[in-house]
Amino acid sequence: MNHIQKICILGGGTAGWMTAAGLAEKLKHSDIAITLIESEQIGTVGVGEATLPHIRYFNETLGIHEPTFMKATKATFKLGIEFCDWGKIGDRYIHPFGDFGQPINHISFHHFWVNARQSGDTTRLSDYSYPIIAAELGRFQYPDPDPSKIESTFGYAYQFDASLYAGFLRQHAEANGVTRIEGKATESQLDSETGFVKNLILENGEQISADLFVDCSGFRGVLIEQALKTGYEDWSEWLPCNRAIAVPTKSGPANLRPYTQATARTAGWQWRIPLQHRTGNGHVYWNEFISDDEALAQLMDNLDADPLADPKQLFFKTGKRKKLWHKNVVAIGLSGGFLEPLESTSIYLIQEGITELLQLFPDMYFPDSDIDEYNRRMDLHFDRVRDFLLLHYVATQREDSEMWRHFRSLTLPDSLQEKIDAWLHRGHIIKYEIGAFLPPSWVAVLVGQNLIPNNYDRRVDHLSEQEQFKTMEQIRKAVAFAAGNTAPQQDFINRIGANAALSPEASA
Ligand SMILES: Cc1cc2nc3c(=O)[nH]c(=O)nc-3n(C[C@H](O)[C@H](O)[C@H](O)COP(=O)(O)OP(=O)(O)OC[C@H]3O[C@@H](n4cnc5c(N)ncnc54)[C@H](O)[C@@H]3O)c2cc1C
Repeated sequence: MNHIQKICILGGGTAGWMTAAGLAEKLKHSDIAITLIESEQIGTVGVGEATLPHIRYFNETLGIHEPTFMKATKATFKLGIEFCDWGKIGDRYIHPFGDFGQPINHISFHHFWVNARQSGDTTRLSDYSYPIIAAELGRFQYPDPDPSKIESTFGYAYQFDASLYAGFLRQHAEANGVTRIEGKATESQLDSETGFVKNLILENGEQISADLFVDCSGFRGVLIEQALKTGYEDWSEWLPCNRAIAVPTKSGPANLRPYTQATARTAGWQWRIPLQHRTGNGHVYWNEFISDDEALAQLMDNLDADPLADPKQLFFKTGKRKKLWHKNVVAIGLSGGFLEPLESTSIYLIQEGITELLQLFPDMYFPDSDIDEYNRRMDLHFDRVRDFLLLHYVATQREDSEMWRHFRSLTLPDSLQEKIDAWLHRGHIIKYEIGAFLPPSWVAVLVGQNLIPNNYDRRVDHLSEQEQFKTMEQIRKAVAFAAGNTAPQQDFINRIGANAALSPEASA
């Protein structure tokens, strides 16, 4: 028998239950048995509320009904992230999940904006983005299916309670045959010849064997690190923030905003994530330049509503495992690596880990070529997120604290330096096949943090300035009109039946 018969997932956080639900759905017509082990005694990390649009495809693959999911997870819609005080103190911009304007003669819109700016026009690039203006007005509607309309030029994600999401997926996974075992794994046994993990031993003595193990045990990395000693690539050199304090608050003035906020502070940044029933807040910081007490005080001073629980402290080291797949263990979630949550990328990386695993699903031979390909692709996903996060820290004019001065003199990874150089030279964004962030995301952050190209695509000049300005003005007006006619997000949530307060479980 050379096909996999038993899969064991260790961990029941967001990563564990996403993996269980994803694998169970795709493998439901096979005879593969899937077991998930989790320990209530250990618990989950308990944070992670903002997502990227990719999650919609994950949910769709599972056949999840959006309003039911939104009610169950108390989700709001997310059109992007507002960054405050990143380029300079007082700056604000939204990184939208969507385009700026529409291409003119197949040339990206931002080139026309750069040209207009060089001629003295002061209109914000944001004014040409439907998702930005809708977000600023607190509005939401689904993208229009007609691609010629400006209301079609965006995607959306969610802000939700990740623990409720894990619970929601658990039902889905169990309905597709996943067996859950409550218990703490205390030991793992390796095959003496191959070094593969053979068994997990639980605290009660139970022995769980499997052909393939997925390590979703969180920062501990019980299998990938404690058992297989795979090693960790430390990226603190580039992303040095290493601690966070999280605290939920009552719904505040931010709650009807269909976007997450990330406000730069002296030694890190603060998140605010509006859910239907509360707001998630947290301060991510570098302990080299701020004490835990000061970081907590900064967070508490900047809440916009009363706390609902005691603040929770978290410790981390940014980076990733040297191999996300090693022998018969695949690390998905925090066990595989962690990049700070500035652009809500962890759940996205979990999803990519599951998708790539399904594409390269092994047989009992575990061919090196497939394992290497998985690791190569996942490395690219991680590298590109790292570069995008680092961009926020280095595309800045801030020098008002030691952390910001540190970033001014940092040597960047070549891949990021090349991207910035190409942009500054003529507004070109280098594109990749793999990577979460498409050119408009890079444009949003670069322009939002005041890195304006010196030049633009010269094909812009094939159109007279008069024609260019007329077309741009039409787009700006269409954006303002369409966003102005979009419903407030709360009305939209009510209309589609996704208001958690109206569900029978709401009082629970
Ligand atoms: C400060 C912070 C903010 C974040 N914000 C975001 C965000 O906005 N968006 C986003 O996408 N992501 C965010 N993340 C990341 C997100 O929280 C995680 O990616 C996500 O929760 C997945 O975690 P996990 O399932 O890998 O680990 P965990 O939640 O830690 O789950 C680990 C599981 O393994 C089990 N386990 C561990 N050891 C054993 C054992 N020996 N035996 C049995 N079971 C065991 C535990 O019981 C638990 O079930 C954030 C992370 C941090 C630290």
